[in-house]
Amino acid sequence: MKAAVCYEFGKPLVIEEVTLDPPGKGEVKIRLTAVAICHSDIHAIKGEHGRPPLPAIPGHEISGYVEETGEGVTYVKSGDPVVASIIPEGCGQCYYCRIGLSSQCTTNRLYLNGEGKFTNKKGQRLTQFAGAVAGFAEYAVIPEVNLVKIPEDLPMDSACLLACGVISGFGAVMNRARVAPNSSVAVLGCGGVGLNAIQGAVFAGAYPVIAVDVRDGKLATAKVFGATHTVNAKTEKDPVKKVHEITYGRGADNVIVAVMGLDILRQGFMMSARDGTTVIVGHGYDEKLSDFSPLDFMMGKKLTGSAMGAVRLRIDIARLIELYKTGRLKLDELISGRYPFEKISEAFASSEKGDVIRNVIMF
Ligand SMILES: [Zn+2]
Ligand SMILES: [Zn+2]
Repeated sequence: MKAAVCYEFGKPLVIEEVTLDPPGKGEVKIRLTAVAICHSDIHAIKGEHGRPPLPAIPGHEISGYVEETGEGVTYVKSGDPVVASIIPEGCGQCYYCRIGLSSQCTTNRLYLNGEGKFTNKKGQRLTQFAGAVAGFAEYAVIPEVNLVKIPEDLPMDSACLLACGVISGFGAVMNRARVAPNSSVAVLGCGGVGLNAIQGAVFAGAYPVIAVDVRDGKLATAKVFGATHTVNAKTEKDPVKKVHEITYGRGADNVIVAVMGLDILRQGFMMSARDGTTVIVGHGYDEKLSDFSPLDFMMGKKLTGSAMGAVRLRIDIARLIELYKTGRLKLDELISGRYPFEKISEAFASSEKGDVIRNVIMF
């Protein structure tokens, strides 16, 4: 079997033959059908999202079919279609699971840069950028708790997007900001995550829904996903002032920052209203907050984070699938291009430029 391996940060991935461990206790072997290129993958292979020991396999927006199950696996059986996410299902037993916050489960934890299941031809063990999940490979062995069963009739290329981009954006709105009807939302960064924050805000009944980006193409796409206003942060003289104008002088009640960069985070925070909430989604390796003062928070402004949309994995994805099936969630529209595995470097290069939302590798 083949995998795409990172041997050096900032260099293209190398597709090569690898061997994969058999599934152990609680693990499942998946035959991948599709994996999307998330912006986190682009950051990861540049060393901008932590630096695991190399060689390492990236990739984490996965759909596929169960090939084989390890000891004790009961949730899936061979042949089941699934998506795999880096955030696991909660254990159901710990304090946080019992109070309904399974995304904070202290037993089944989200981790990055984990030990891998792969060995290359030289006998080196490969690490995995996305912890429990490795997506740029024909097969993967993944813990059962990271899997969500999906309906047989869901297109597998669109389904893989549910595993990260969709839940990260939609979840930031629903589970972290808890956007209320008629409240205002500004979304900074209109990529795969930001567009899902926008469609989540529309679904939550927000108005206005303001898309902020530096590319006009992305702002045009944001309108398709339901943004009522757009602000080009490059050409607009004062984007913070502009967002205040659109929100009747108050600032946005909810700000979702779906792009990396502390200056952008600061800008998003300044766009927020009194008592408003700013949710950090985009983040970079080694970033340190320094540009905030205690006085910034005296008007009741809140700054919080959202890992994978604080998703309740198997509940939220099942609900999102229902919305998709009834035409209320755009998934197919998030796919910009489909590439065979051999052309993964081409897919990466395309993802880095222009107005690409998600390129999907098809196996
Ligand atoms: Zn991702
Ligand atoms: Zn738990």
